[in-house]
Amino acid sequence: MPGADIILETRGASLHFGGIAALDNVSISVRKGEIFGLVGPNGAGKSTFLNAVSGVFPLSGGSVHFEGKDISRIPLYQRPSIGIGRTFQGVELFGELSVQDNLMVGRHHLMKSGILSSGLFIGKTEREEIEHRMKVEEVIEFFELERYRKRRVGSLAYGIQKIVGVARAVCSEPRILLLDEVASGLNREEKEDLARFLLRIKHTRGTTMIWVEHDIRMVSELADTTAVLDYGRLVGVGPAGDVLRDANVKRVFLGTDEPAPAVAAV
Ligand code: ADP
Ligand code: MG
Repeated sequence: MPGADIILETRGASLHFGGIAALDNVSISVRKGEIFGLVGPNGAGKSTFLNAVSGVFPLSGGSVHFEGKDISRIPLYQRPSIGIGRTFQGVELFGELSVQDNLMVGRHHLMKSGILSSGLFIGKTEREEIEHRMKVEEVIEFFELERYRKRRVGSLAYGIQKIVGVARAVCSEPRILLLDEVASGLNREEKEDLARFLLRIKHTRGTTMIWVEHDIRMVSELADTTAVLDYGRLVGVGPAGDVLRDANVKRVFLGTDEPAPAVAAV
């Protein structure tokens, strides 16, 4: 049953691409403030799930509820302003812009004057810009990016770019943050930094996270709840340790031709 502490819920969410059910009747509940890990083999529908929640594609069936409201029909461009932020698999930053300016882009929907507004009302626009720049500075410190703030993002190491991607999403001040494989391509030290930042986001900002990740061990150490997708279907959900010990779920990761049976959300 949806409780008061549920921030996001999908009910029978399905998303088809032609004949492929990338998501097949997925019902999950995410509690406010938790790190909700989402794992599964390649092509299991993890990115599609984030796309469905962030509105990249309309659902073929079912619904998505955020803070008690059905948001299934809210268009993509409006989702940041209702409190949904995300990163993309692979880095989708502006390589030619500095770290600071990439983070400013993350605040675009929060700006009244707009990032590209003319100089006609310079006083007001400038004041607003200063406020946003200060918020960006806070996020730069939060993610320990001070020494990179003026650097062109395209010139930074991949691991730093990944962190900048998370920082940009945090700049949009989401109440739920969708993270798509932010640890992939990172070395061990960078993963440790990322883990620290995710916990810091959780504990100091209280942001709920749905975290899609390939590194199951990392997810099992950090996530409060873990869900497993296979062939677009939910095949396990619960505390990470329990889920990953489940025989069906083990089968998914060991790789068999036979899909595991779907489960109902707990
Ligand atoms: P994962 O992120 O778990 O690796 P995806 O969500 O990217 O998996 O993909 C799930 C399935 O949906 C795959 O079979 C993939 O080929 C298909 N798919 C994903 N996005 C699209 C798209 N835009 N058009 C067509 N098929 C897609
Ligand atoms: Mg993916």
